[in-house]
Amino acid sequence: MTHTAIDLRSDTVTQPCTAMRAAMAQAPVGDDVYGDDPGVNRLQELAAELFGFEAALFAPSGTQTNLIALLTHCGRGDEYIVGQQAHTYKYEGGGAAVLGSIQPQPLAHQADGSLALEDITAAIKPDDFHFARSRLLALENTIGGRVLSPDYLRAATDLAHSRGLATHLDGARICNAAVQQGISLRDAVRGFDSISVCLSKGLGAPVGSVLCGSRSFIGQALRWRKMLGGGMRQAGILAAAGIYALEHNVQRLAEDHANALHLAQGLAGIPGLAVQMPQTNIVYVDLPQQRCTAVAVALHESGIIASVSAHMRLVTHKDVSRQDIAHVIEVFAGCIGNG
Ligand SMILES: *Cc1c(COP(=O)(O)O)cnc(C)c1O
Repeated sequence: MTHTAIDLRSDTVTQPCTAMRAAMAQAPVGDDVYGDDPGVNRLQELAAELFGFEAALFAPSGTQTNLIALLTHCGRGDEYIVGQQAHTYKYEGGGAAVLGSIQPQPLAHQADGSLALEDITAAIKPDDFHFARSRLLALENTIGGRVLSPDYLRAATDLAHSRGLATHLDGARICNAAVQQGISLRDAVRGFDSISVCLSKGLGAPVGSVLCGSRSFIGQALRWRKMLGGGMRQAGILAAAGIYALEHNVQRLAEDHANALHLAQGLAGIPGLAVQMPQTNIVYVDLPQQRCTAVAVALHESGIIASVSAHMRLVTHKDVSRQDIAHVIEVFAGCIGNG
């Protein structure tokens, strides 16, 4: 379990800690396709309770919980309104279109990551056989590390509902958003008919996401999960990690946010780098294209793993310490400073 490298590619690289592994090893299990796994049932009840929904469903990935949500809300020939940079639209292989015959209606984001209410209004199609049926508004929070405010989310979900659309939140990192705003998980997702939450990112579980919704929504979602191959058997071993994550790793995300800010401030002091100040755990850094190779070599030689490009993303998480951040800043200063 030794990992000395500092991995800033994503918060998906987090390792399950010793206590989480112990919880997994001791988990009582059953066959979850029969509904017999006590750990999965407990995780689903816990997630529903924490986020304020009637029911929840555990699935192997966030791509699957988002796809299940889209398939449950929308039918063939329906469309969902979504951001151009949204994970469901851009980073999930076009699953909703491929597997659900659901047409995306992507919209450009505002600088704060939101979709303008006027743009949403303009994208909702009238009931006319020329058009796909506008059925769902799908938002993402955090989006590229930025936090959407509860006021905005309230206005956007009210707008969607007033026009007869359902609402889905890709809340892969919703816990980061809630912690950053100092609000409850329930308040962070208010207004959405369904939400997807990743346990396998900053929360530190090895596998899994939960989908939350009404009892009837989750009932239909269960059918889609089975069809997509997401019905797992003694999944309580994985659910134990998810329960541990929700019980122990939510509030500590504040440390990741503080580390991201520290990293951004340190890098901003290096001439040649343009740094966006982070709201949560994701730092974007622009560097001159001609310095990319030198940076890649220097990071590699210093035991730092990052996806180097002229527009880099660096992600902090529980396995990156304040000391690690200081080292990263030093390495950048060393190789950019003498260019
Ligand atoms: C990571 C992520 C997902 C789902 O990811 P999986 O790797 O499939 O678990 C969905 N949405 C967003 C915004 C994400 O960052």
